[in-house]
Amino acid sequence: MDRLKASARLMIVSDLDHTMVDHHDPENISILRFNALWEAHYRLDSLLVFSTGRSPTLYKQLRKEKPMLTPDITIMSVGTEITYGTSMIPDNGWVEFLNQKWDRKIVTEETSKFPELTLQSETEQRPHKVSFYVDKDKAHSVIKALTEIFEKRGLDVKIIYSGGMDLDILAQGAGKGQALAYLHKKFKGEGKLPTNTLVCGDSGNDAELFTIPDVYGVMVSNAQEELLQWYSENAKDNPKIIHASERCAAGIIQAIGHFSLGPSTSPRDGSDFISSKVKSVSAGGEIVKIFLFYERWRRAEIEQSELYLATVKADFDKSGFIVLPSGVEVSLCDAINGMRSSYGDKQGKQFRVWVDRVLPTKISSDTWLVKFNKWELSGEEQQGCVTSCLINMKDGVSGACYMHIHQTWLEGSGGKDDSTWLF
Ligand SMILES: [Mg+2]
Repeated sequence: MDRLKASARLMIVSDLDHTMVDHHDPENISILRFNALWEAHYRLDSLLVFSTGRSPTLYKQLRKEKPMLTPDITIMSVGTEITYGTSMIPDNGWVEFLNQKWDRKIVTEETSKFPELTLQSETEQRPHKVSFYVDKDKAHSVIKALTEIFEKRGLDVKIIYSGGMDLDILAQGAGKGQALAYLHKKFKGEGKLPTNTLVCGDSGNDAELFTIPDVYGVMVSNAQEELLQWYSENAKDNPKIIHASERCAAGIIQAIGHFSLGPSTSPRDGSDFISSKVKSVSAGGEIVKIFLFYERWRRAEIEQSELYLATVKADFDKSGFIVLPSGVEVSLCDAINGMRSSYGDKQGKQFRVWVDRVLPTKISSDTWLVKFNKWELSGEEQQGCVTSCLINMKDGVSGACYMHIHQTWLEGSGGKDDSTWLF
């Protein structure tokens, strides 16, 4: 990862479905809490890694459905594909490594003889992964038979059963754990081994993550039986692994606190944040705070107070202005004044605002150019824009002073209407 010049303070390696993403939480509360925590306290010097069983196609689909941050590294298709950054550049070294002792043809040929196996959709069949569905009660015998057959044919593969239905056959070197071990080795070679690594999962294909030396681990409260069983048989004496009492992303936050890996109070957990005497000392913290205020004001979750508006206004340069995604330019003062009439206009409605990849660049002793993606979810529609803020901030002395904000639509975000955007 070129973004960080030194070792990451914390590397979180998290599964997505039912770990980072709670499919039983239509309000997405826990992932939004995690997002705010990450952007306020970790983005700058830590690494976020998503490790999912999903193929790139289904992963991209999930990103459109849920308020997910952009990870630094994406591990997909059960640890068979590693990509970096927003452009998702593949790790070719990993591809070459997986090619050893792998013959996809033999796998498809032998598995076609098992009527118990139902092939998953075409998008889930990947160069180093062949995926099926199989009933729970048949899984054990099928895996046993397949293992013997592949052995006879001299093929070194890994068979993983997950979620009580998914059967993945991978190249032996692959898997979520192996992919993480590969990354650790790579970072170590660059002298940038993360200070702490926290792995997070809920199902069978996550078990390998917990076997990597020196990592902290959290099995979220809603973890599947297969993972809990693996834990009780293999890792129950390891004090670095916990079974959280909280679901999904809330369990990840709980683990950060439990292992004292850094701040574990999400800005979303506070209610009196805007009038708080304790000012945030990071640009990320400031950006998260201002957009959280904006969300809560429009949802009428905070008091309709002139004092709040005055406090926010005090953080905005009087001669500053904002360029909205449509190109319309408004003075920062007018933008705040415009908030008066929009108090509670999203009350009782699905309306959330979050920021992603808040990355500040220092351009003079107390001036920062902060770039990030700002997202609004209103009803069913999710719109995003690239935002640049010029911020004056004296380190550790006071909060930020916004001098200029510029927004343009994020490519492919579906956003084209900013008529209800205030800033
Ligand atoms: Mg999962």
